[in-house]
Formats: sequence, structure tokens, C-alpha cells
Amino acid sequence: MPAKSKYPPIDIPNIGLWDFLFERKDRDFPDDKVIFADAVTNRSLTYANVKQTASDFGKGLRAVWDWQKGDVLGVYSANSIETPGVTWGCHFAGGIVSPANPGYTVHELAFQLKDSGAKALVTQMPQLEIALQACKIVGIPENRVILMGDARDKEGRFKHWTSVRNISGTQRYRRAKVDAANDLAFLVYSSGTTGKPKGVMLTHRNIVANTLMITAAEAPISGHAREGYPEGDSILAFLPFFHIYGLTVVLHQSFYRGVKTVVMAKFDIESWCACVQQHKITFAYVVPPVVLQLSKHPCVSKYDLSTVRMLNSGAAPLTKELVDALYERIKVPVKQGYGLSETSPTTHTQPWELWRSTIGAVGTMLPNQTAKYMSAEEKEVPVGEVGELWIKGPNIFKGYLNNAEGTKNALTDDGYFKTGDVGYQDGEGNFFITDRVKELIKYKGFQVPPAELEGLLVSHPKIDDVAVIGVYREEQATEVPLAYVKVRDGITASPSVEKEIMEWLAAKVANHKRLRGGVRFTDEIPKSASGKILRRLLKDKLKAEEEKR
Ligand code: AMP
Repeated sequence: MPAKSKYPPIDIPNIGLWDFLFERKDRDFPDDKVIFADAVTNRSLTYANVKQTASDFGKGLRAVWDWQKGDVLGVYSANSIETPGVTWGCHFAGGIVSPANPGYTVHELAFQLKDSGAKALVTQMPQLEIALQACKIVGIPENRVILMGDARDKEGRFKHWTSVRNISGTQRYRRAKVDAANDLAFLVYSSGTTGKPKGVMLTHRNIVANTLMITAAEAPISGHAREGYPEGDSILAFLPFFHIYGLTVVLHQSFYRGVKTVVMAKFDIESWCACVQQHKITFAYVVPPVVLQLSKHPCVSKYDLSTVRMLNSGAAPLTKELVDALYERIKVPVKQGYGLSETSPTTHTQPWELWRSTIGAVGTMLPNQTAKYMSAEEKEVPVGEVGELWIKGPNIFKGYLNNAEGTKNALTDDGYFKTGDVGYQDGEGNFFITDRVKELIKYKGFQVPPAELEGLLVSHPKIDDVAVIGVYREEQATEVPLAYVKVRDGITASPSVEKEIMEWLAAKVANHKRLRGGVRFTDEIPKSASGKILRRLLKDKLKAEEEKR
């Protein structure tokens, strides 16, 4: 029998994100509550500021570019307190937002812009040069490249998003009507179980549902004054808003609940600690490598982190050793959550009170979901036995953009999503993730699709065949990508060829996709009869090689 969430079912209104966030009757915090504050400049935006700028931008999109329902706006930027206004402004106009990693190279960005069919791109000055080159490749004209953030274009060549306005004075640009269950709010990119990144189609309902589901499970977070927390909680938002974890869990949840959110554009451990101390941060969503730094880095001791009530780690596995090391050092508990881009994202989180008694679990299921673990033969396995996790609920994506086959492989006819993650459940509703059947590698929570790297590496003149796998590096609390390479006839495998290959790839991909695990030479890449790389064999080979060292 599939497991059901232990939380009581919640009511999910059939409305779009604009109505959900801005037209709600049950809002219990005032218009002038500061929701977003910049960690460095302290510039802040109240609830009312965000609503006003977003609706101005939404009207501007319609007035200036005749924005139509379903038009896609690319956002290529580091976190900014202006990201929410841009995002919801696009929704006001009926558009879809496709956020991209600001570390992307020209070709990586061009791929996403082309695949998503973006009509315009919002970026910041530091990313402008790459943005322009990518837009040129895909045919987005320069006048549809829009800036956000404090740094402006001195020559006035590019509009700032706050000046994309309806100056015609006509009142006809009202917010677009949305069919919440079908209309898309976001196109985020994930490689899913196999292949290159794909557009994950997330509807308005997906995000509304997941925001409410997370809110139900994260009840102790509060935006309101109460004993010991006169201003309510303050969340530190350093996880990127382009990734679903930062986008829904941090950005949407905090805004919906009226929790002050201090936004960091770039992570480094010292700034993180300084920010916690200065802004009296009470809660932060993190990833395991951050937990590692907090438990090891010398600078941490210089700061007062005592305001932090709890951390939540997600996006990659968190070990018991890390949970213990963190608590021992700074007395801050860390619990775990789990999810995927395709599930909007959160499906599980450890209840606050269970952080210690269920260490290692990714948590219990959020409301309105059903899940089961399946054998390789697609039969449900009993409680306690290991299988692939399948999940069903209102947060499950609509499918992959223009990819019927990928969608068919990921979603069953009766609505289950096959996560590609492997684990088990205990008898008490706690879920565990122990492995993956999919090929995805995650470096510090960022996706590294092996197929993408392999596609590039085979075009290297010295490489005959290649396979990329992930290897866990405990000292960094993350997986790193490693390539097995078969060199062409006549080429001698050597450290200098290894270096050459690593540098060659590094110039072509975003920082997180570099071959940090190195290159290993092999005479053969193991493949199945149908030509699929047998990654499990390579992982076993690597394990044996590492044990020998
Ligand atoms: P993404 O779509 O980028 O959010 O990546 C989703 C993948 O991250 C999942 O399929 C898992 O493989 C991994 N993941 C997320 N959270 C956890 C967790 N708590 N423990 C283990 N793996 C996780």
C-alpha cells in the first residue's frame, strides 16, 4: 500500500500566484512589513513595495512588448531583492519565468533561452556581456535585454526593469487571467533521470501547493512578533533563486508568510556569519557543504550565531557526522528536507522536534502526497525494503517542455513521478534516500548532468570515448564529477593530457561542472548492448581503484 502523508490534507486554492500572494483575504501582516533586505547595502522592500513594482513591471511588459500569456522571460542573475518583483511582474502579465544560473557560459545560457523560447532577458551588469552574446545567438534583440539591480548602464543602452512601465496612461493592462492547474509559472532546468537539461514545466498550482505544503510542515517559522522574537523570524536567503530550492522554499514561502528575508548575492562563509550576526538571523536553508564549513571553518568562532533556532539542509545528502559536528560546535540543530525540481521541490522534511531522533532521514512526507518505493521490476516493495521512490501530489510537475518521451518516462498514467532516487521508509513515516538510479551528479547541490559533459568531451581531439560519474568527497561534503577517458589511437595517456582535458572543459562550462574529481584513463567504456554507459560498473571500478591507493 502506498504511504500517505501523516499531515492532515490541506486545501489548495485553484488560483494563480499573483492572487495567491497579493490578493489574499487572510494576510495577517501589514503592507509596510519589510520582507526583503539586501545583506550588504541594507536596502529593503516592504510587501507593498514589491506589489507595486511588480504590477508596474507587469503592465510595462504588456504595454511595451505586448506581452502575451505564456511568453517566457529569462532571468540571468545572482540573487537580488529585485528578483521577486521581476518574477511576479512577469506573472502579472501572464508570462512564464525561466531562471538561469548566473555562472552559465554563453552557450549554456543560449541553450536555455532557445529551449524555453524566451522573448526577453533580465540580467545584471556583471552578467551583461555574456547575456548579450547569448541573446545574439538565439535572436533576442538588444532592446529586450533588461537590467535589474543597483548598477545601471551609464550609456542608457539598456532599460532598467523599473522603467519598463505603462506610460500610455491607459488602464487596460490588468493582470492576466490564469488557469492555475494548466498555465505555467516557471520553466526551471533539470536533467531529470537521464540526458541533457530539460525544461521542467511548473504550473501556478504546483508552486501554490508546495508553498502551502511547506508552510504546514514548517509551522514553527513565524513572520510575526512573539516571545523571544519581537520581529518574528529572519531568514537568510543565499541559496540561488534560480534553483527550485531557493525559488519556492525561500522566496515564495517567506513572502507568503511575511517573514523578513535577508538576501545575499554570493555565498562565502565569513559574510554568511557576519550577516547572521548583524541581521539576527533565526533560520536558514542550507546545503551540506555549508554545514561542513560551519562545523570546521575557523572564522565561524568570531561571530555570534546564537539567534539561529534551526537550519534546514537539502539538495544533497546530509550525514550524521555533519549534524553532530555542527551541533557540537555552534549548538545549532540542523534538520533535513528532500525534493526535486520536478516536485516544486519539497516532498519531505524532518519535523523540527524530530531533528535529533531521526538523523539520516530526509523527513516525513508533506501534506497531500502519496509515495511508494518500487523494485526494478516496478513492483512496490514492503516498508523497510530498498527501492526507487515514486511520489504523487499537487506539486508534481506537468512534464518536460517539448519532450514527450522524457515526460512519459518520468510520469506514470496514474500520476506518480519516478524520482530516480533510491531508499526506504521505516514503519513510522520517516523516509530515507540512500542512492540514485539516475545518472545525475550533484556538486554542492548544483546539478551536473553527465550526458552534457560527455557530449562536450567527445569532441576533444584526444578523446575517443568518455563517461562521467560522480564520486563523493567527504572532506568537501559533496560529490564531484570525474571522467573516465579512452584516448584516441596514438595518444599516450599522461598527467599532461589529464590537465589539458580538465582545462579544456573548464573553459566551456559553468564553474560547478568542472571535473573536480579528475580524469582517469581506461581502455574501454563499459556499455550495454543498446549502447548505454554502464555507470554502476564504473563506480565499482573507481571504488576498487580508490581502495587500492
Ligand atoms: P534538483 O532537481 O536540482 O533539486 O535535484 C534533485 C535531486 O537532488 C534529487 O533527485 C536527489 O538526488 C538530490 N537530493 C535532494 N535533496 C536530497 C537529500 N536530502 N538527500 C539526498 N539527495 C537529495
